[in-house]
Amino acid sequence: MGLLTGKKALVLGIANDMSIAWGITKALKAEGAQVALSYLNENLQKRVEPLAAEVGADFIFEMDVTIDEHYERIQKIVEEKWGKFDILVHSLAFGDKNDLKGRFVETSRNGFKMACDISAFSLIGLCNALKNNMNDDASVIAMTYHGSVKVLKGYNVMGVAKAALEASTRYLADDLGPQNIRVNCISAGPIRTLAASAVPGLKDFLKVIEEKAPLRKNVTQDDVGGTAVYLASRLSHGVTGQVLYVDSGINIMAQ
Ligand code: NAD
Repeated sequence: MGLLTGKKALVLGIANDMSIAWGITKALKAEGAQVALSYLNENLQKRVEPLAAEVGADFIFEMDVTIDEHYERIQKIVEEKWGKFDILVHSLAFGDKNDLKGRFVETSRNGFKMACDISAFSLIGLCNALKNNMNDDASVIAMTYHGSVKVLKGYNVMGVAKAALEASTRYLADDLGPQNIRVNCISAGPIRTLAASAVPGLKDFLKVIEEKAPLRKNVTQDDVGGTAVYLASRLSHGVTGQVLYVDSGINIMAQ
């Protein structure tokens, strides 16, 4: 019997088998959870379908978090397929490449709105749409990055969006706490994925971690998956509103 046997997990954010959400999905599944997976659009559906088959997903669904009707639709799908569920994984973000490669001061209004809407508001929208479908003791897990609190050249508007995501996590934790729903973030170190490839200087960040992080190695999707299991399970019953770092310890270093 696994730590998550009998639990149902809705995972948003798989683009391919490099996605952090895929590492999390495999870890949840390995501990006995039933899973359902989202894809952004038809193009990504082709990539997500075989992965869903690999873990025996209960269902897959299309979800573009910029579209209001998709929030209503996912609520209806969950209601019909599961009724109630236990684990919500938010592993998605978007920042326009043009706003990442230039000077921060030149961030466009549209780029700012889009990054914050997709990367931060979506967590609030999903919790609101699904709050009555979450079981007592449900766990919401969102993915963030240290660029929310420290300046990383090239992370730019995504740092602002992640700060909004982390603050939203705290307000959601307070709001949903009386319903016994926990809301936490995992702050992962840099990992090679589709989204990360849009951040200039990724190669350099990876090298710095190998040289300077306490553990002298980069983290993997599986490392993040392990922490997601902890946050999803009874082992973290008393933990909410937190940002847990899974970054080989680099965040504690002065430089
Ligand atoms: P990824 O490209 O595999 O995943 C990003 C996902 O966001 C994709 O599945 C994409 O379809 C989805 N997405 C983008 N726009 C969307 C929209 N409008 N509606 C619904 N989904 C949308 O990359 P990843 O690195 O696995 O990213 C997952 C999460 O982890 C993100 O929040 C990212 O910021 C965070 N993160 C990544 C790293 C890293 O170095 N890779 C580090 C820390 C945090």
